[in-house]
Amino acid sequence: MTDSLAFCPDPHARVVAVPAFDDNYLWLVLSPDRRRAAVVDPGDAQAIESALSARDLTLDAILLTHHHRDHTGGVAALTARWSCPVYGPRAEGIPGVDHALDDGDAVNLAGLDLRFRVIGVPGHTRGHIAYFAERLDPTDPPALFCGDTLFAGGCGRLFEGTAAQMLDSLARLRALPDDTRVYCAHEYTLANLRFAVAVDPDNAALQTRFALAQARRARGEPTVPGEMAAERATNPFLRTHLPALQAAAARHLGRAPADAAECFGAIRDWKNQFR
Ligand code: ZN
Ligand code: FE
Repeated sequence: MTDSLAFCPDPHARVVAVPAFDDNYLWLVLSPDRRRAAVVDPGDAQAIESALSARDLTLDAILLTHHHRDHTGGVAALTARWSCPVYGPRAEGIPGVDHALDDGDAVNLAGLDLRFRVIGVPGHTRGHIAYFAERLDPTDPPALFCGDTLFAGGCGRLFEGTAAQMLDSLARLRALPDDTRVYCAHEYTLANLRFAVAVDPDNAALQTRFALAQARRARGEPTVPGEMAAERATNPFLRTHLPALQAAAARHLGRAPADAAECFGAIRDWKNQFR
């Protein structure tokens, strides 16, 4: 059963991870001819410029998931150099955004042969959005760029939204196809899975994923992207409707949670305190 889960699938051929800061991944999505690119969440302009020049790429578009500095810090310098469009959530008033997006919008980047659907996922911030592509190349699995909402084995902190909002946002992502590649914005996987094992100790798929992720990190390899089926099987924040996670929430609260949002909130709160 667990062998059918792809815990650390290869990224799409058109997607390039650009590491930045301590643990961020900035994502480049290339055109089919590999000459142009869009960037998701360019927190660091210099890291992106180096990646572009190393591959002899032109920057065609910037896509933002939310307003935090580690996701937007490079926008001003990149637009000064490339004068490309900047897509971002309408609700966050991010400087430089000239294509404001709402839930359900489509982003068509014809020059890159890319088409994304916008999914509103408030919780980490109040206007956070994710970008979903049905496919990048004709035979590819779907791709999700979800910023700081869904992480490999975890989820973002609730800085501006409520537990109920985040639970609802994650439910929307959870409903995406099994083979969706999940391109999150941070390498938080080991810390997330260490917590996951503590709250969901009898989950065999989770144990397997943790061991594989530890081996990858020991080799200096990324654990991102993950795959949606594996997230559903191992990520406690996508599993708070299950008895094992409800029992864990009750241990943290000292009583049974009153509803799904309180259960989710208890697990999120426990993670904040977990060392
Ligand atoms: Zn953030
Ligand atoms: Fe972040």
